[in-house]
Amino acid sequence: MKKHNFNAGPSILPRIAVENSAKAILDLNGSGLSLLEISHRHKDFQVIIDEANALFHELLNIPPGYHVLFLGGGASTQFVMVPYNLLQTQAAYLETGAWAKKAIKEAKIFGTVNVVGSSADKNFNYIPKGYTIPSDADYFHITTNNTIFGTEIKYDMDSPIPLVADMSSDMLSRPTDVSKYAMIYGGAQKNLGPAGVTFVIIREDILGKVDRKIPSMLDYKIHIDNGSMYNTPPCFAIYTCLETLKWIKGLGGLTTIRAMNEKKANLLYHAIDHSKMFIGTVNKEDRSLMNICFVMKEEYKDKEEAFMEFAKGKGMIGIKGHRSVGGFRASTYNALPIESVQALIDCMHEFEKTNL
Ligand SMILES: *Cc1c(COP(=O)(O)O)cnc(C)c1O
Repeated sequence: MKKHNFNAGPSILPRIAVENSAKAILDLNGSGLSLLEISHRHKDFQVIIDEANALFHELLNIPPGYHVLFLGGGASTQFVMVPYNLLQTQAAYLETGAWAKKAIKEAKIFGTVNVVGSSADKNFNYIPKGYTIPSDADYFHITTNNTIFGTEIKYDMDSPIPLVADMSSDMLSRPTDVSKYAMIYGGAQKNLGPAGVTFVIIREDILGKVDRKIPSMLDYKIHIDNGSMYNTPPCFAIYTCLETLKWIKGLGGLTTIRAMNEKKANLLYHAIDHSKMFIGTVNKEDRSLMNICFVMKEEYKDKEEAFMEFAKGKGMIGIKGHRSVGGFRASTYNALPIESVQALIDCMHEFEKTNL
């Protein structure tokens, strides 16, 4: 049976990226050596990391003054590194979900955290509006896509202070105006590659403004000066990212990717909105294009488990909602084909026919 992979992360990757990664594990470019068996200082690996870096710059049209880093530790380590490197006295955060809360928790270790807006009052089913970004804070931190709750800030906002964005789950899902951000980071395992590598895009002029001493491994400047090779980078994960970046470029870049993502998300949201049984959980204008959350209406709540089983029988993978939302979550990342979205919709319709 064909499987439709709606996993939230780690999640579906372009098939070609998976196949080429498998080949590189067996034999890197006909060298007779596995990608897993060569030094990160080997010229063949330098070519890989350089190309991944160059493709990041090309696809996102990254302006001068920024660096792309490939680090370990996941997005969760960035929750620490950001305040360690940037928070002198006060930082502003937007509280839009579980990941934002974790970022806030770490920042509080280093200084005052001003939570300028929160959607905690409605279980994070919307993006706060009408807040003011304080001009005297060191930076403003946002989570552009809230993987668990299915909300997304789908535009690049203006900020009077350096804007720092956790883009773990919507990175490279649309064209992004990098010049609006001082820093963008994320774990690769949602939309870009395997777990193990964390991408960071950082404008160098925001560094060097805090008094504290920074341990080398947590110091952005050290990683910039060493080209992401201060220590051994996650070589294999970077290789798969490169393959994904090539796939995006081959499709025509991020404008094409966005159009594909909008088409898929609109198809599923339309089906949810026209369903008698299912209902979306998120404020419509804040809906994510990447993680689509829905539940069964009150009168059908007791059928959620039956639908899960039914869907599983039709090859649907990973559609169980996060425990803090319940119901269902279909993650429609870049690599998910529209046929899988259609298959899920067909599955919903078929279930409704016999259970309404
Ligand atoms: C998954 C996720 C994280 C955590 O990433 P790790 O790489 O596991 O640390 C952080 N932020 C967002 C938005 C995520 O989706």
